[in-house]
Amino acid sequence: MWTVVGTYSPVNVVDWLVPGRNLFLALQVLGVACFIYIVSKRMVPLLRAQADPRFNRPLTRLGRVFKFWLGQWKHPRYRFAGTLHIVIFTGFLLLAARAFSVLIVGVSPTFVMPGLSGRFGPVYETLTDYSATIVFLCMVVAAVRRLVFKPVRYAVPAKYGKGHTTDAIFLLGLIALLMAADSLFSASRFAGLAQAGQSAESPAFLSLPWMIEIAIASMPRTALWGLNVGAYLVHAITFYFLLCYRPFGIQFHVETSLFSIYFSKLEKGTVKPVRWDVSDDHLDQVKSFGVKTFEDFTWKHILDFYSCADCGRCADNCPSNAVGRPLAPRFLTIKARDYVFKHYPVLGKPNSGNPLVGNLYSEDEIWSCTTCGACEEECPLLVEYIDKIVDLRRGMIDDGNVPQSLQKPLKALESRGNPYGKMEKKRGDWAKIPALQTTGPVKVLDAKNGADTLYFVDSITSYDDRMQSIGRATARILSGLGKNFGILGAAEKDSGHEVRRFGEEMLFQSLREHNGEAIKESGVTRIVTSDPHAYNALKHDYKDLPPVEHISQVLASEARAGNLRFNSVEQWLENKDRVYTYHDPCYLGRHNQVYDDPRDVLDSIPGLKRVEMQRSRDRSFCCGGGGLMLFYEPKEEQRMGVVRVHMAAEAGANVIVTACPFCMVNVEDAIKVAGLEGKMSVVDLTEVVDQHMVREVREKDVTTEKLELTNIGG
Ligand code: SF4
Ligand code: SF4
Repeated sequence: MWTVVGTYSPVNVVDWLVPGRNLFLALQVLGVACFIYIVSKRMVPLLRAQADPRFNRPLTRLGRVFKFWLGQWKHPRYRFAGTLHIVIFTGFLLLAARAFSVLIVGVSPTFVMPGLSGRFGPVYETLTDYSATIVFLCMVVAAVRRLVFKPVRYAVPAKYGKGHTTDAIFLLGLIALLMAADSLFSASRFAGLAQAGQSAESPAFLSLPWMIEIAIASMPRTALWGLNVGAYLVHAITFYFLLCYRPFGIQFHVETSLFSIYFSKLEKGTVKPVRWDVSDDHLDQVKSFGVKTFEDFTWKHILDFYSCADCGRCADNCPSNAVGRPLAPRFLTIKARDYVFKHYPVLGKPNSGNPLVGNLYSEDEIWSCTTCGACEEECPLLVEYIDKIVDLRRGMIDDGNVPQSLQKPLKALESRGNPYGKMEKKRGDWAKIPALQTTGPVKVLDAKNGADTLYFVDSITSYDDRMQSIGRATARILSGLGKNFGILGAAEKDSGHEVRRFGEEMLFQSLREHNGEAIKESGVTRIVTSDPHAYNALKHDYKDLPPVEHISQVLASEARAGNLRFNSVEQWLENKDRVYTYHDPCYLGRHNQVYDDPRDVLDSIPGLKRVEMQRSRDRSFCCGGGGLMLFYEPKEEQRMGVVRVHMAAEAGANVIVTACPFCMVNVEDAIKVAGLEGKMSVVDLTEVVDQHMVREVREKDVTTEKLELTNIGG
């Protein structure tokens, strides 16, 4: 039994070895000191990490904090879990001032949080009574969901370690306990004051404190005061335990996610340089490329490891994970976080510097990524993956660790400027075939032959027999639109987009230098390409080039301006039963947000029936990897392209339209593997447009080209 003297507050407990005030003050000082110590230890790896300049554009960054952190922008993409998270997050925000008030009242009984002493005080009390109730209920719902419904995306396959359910339930339990203690503290205070005749107020109607107050109202006053002090102690201990426990697991994201979002990457489609603190011209001075040990990550990337909430959305949307490749982005992060916790202990000295690939990560895991960006698009906390994966690849390449199947294409790129090892002088041969003569030969730009627009073709469209039809269709369209354009022909080399993303930075830089000079010498004022990978490279990886557009953007703006008109699809008999669906190429959609233009172009063709696949736009499912992924043979249970073809069939489509030669290769191949030949076909947007556009100049030759194009779309 204890005695409480003076006003009704835990601070006035006097019968213990130390007075209540001192005890609670000591508890709080200890809690805060522990938290500061633990967090300072967690900062050590960040201080040892590589530079990463994320301090620019503060207003943009603040805007992102408002949108993605405070506004929880991405959470509703998973409706139930997202709503639950938003409710809990809002409850926490509302309860923050109340939690601190409760703690301080244990030391200073008359303390009132600034702003809560006036009329807003009771309103805030009511709001927080309901918040505590709702958060408590959400914890129960979340625990039931974890234990009974067991969403698949929370599961941890054996190869990635043990499950995280116990930890999650423990945390949910702690938060529920915090809410219960807060409510009991409030209820016992109201009941005690009522019995003492000092107040006639009650907690908010039907809230958890209200229900508890009804249950304890008839207890003796001393018991109520005992409950109040006990609730205070449980609340304070749970609060500080949670505060200090969070930096040991997924709940650390509560503290770090705000910073992670503030410092998040602002430009999509880009890849970080080898070293932020070394310019490209001085890379020869860098002794080691990429990430080989943990300390080779940048400080922001380590902050990402702390900020992951383990929600599983990234892996749930990762096509590599979906087809059984040995990669699930979530576990790239979880494994790194476990690594940092183990090698940078809170008690003891750091012990790191071990190679990551071969220990923490397998080679296949790192090569399995198609850099499609689905993981980054989905992550509510803006955790980055592509830059980390590219950096890990750079480290492997630097150690001479190149997959067998990629050695030949990489060598060919070095010697011939294309991954097929074909002759440079044949690069423009696709443009010489007779069908093109109806709209005039394609100009090869040089000192004598100039043009306003460069059509940058890139390797696959230049050399692959099937993809050359995309080049020819593009040329016919540009010609039909009256554009003064040309190609670089033999002077063009691979854009290097995939080379860079495969970690071969020096090779990429030599390709970029060569193409950059050739483009400048050509004197063009605008670049158009039909390859989203080239588009992304020229737009983001190259410097000081004329503006770059993907052909779908050109087509959409010409259609809107009335310069591009179409004949009805019905004039082609074979189109009668065709249902089209558009597949978003990752480097056009997710990395560059070109979603509407290709759709608008298709929709402006009279009579064209188009359906949408369930996974489309920013949730599009990667076809299986552009660029050098065509040469890599990953371990997988099925092909991504096959999964995509089935998605198209489920949507009721029988023609898949894409706007990327790599998608075309993968999907065409997948149709054969899926046994859907004759039932499903794939066609490039340029081919559809070329087939249906109204051209004045080619009337006399339309029959010839029609014959050539009848295979398009099946
Ligand atoms: S970029 Fe795509 S393939 Fe790579 S980890 Fe992310 S979702 Fe998976
Ligand atoms: S990285 Fe993002 S999406 Fe993936 S588990 Fe972590 S928080 Fe969720």
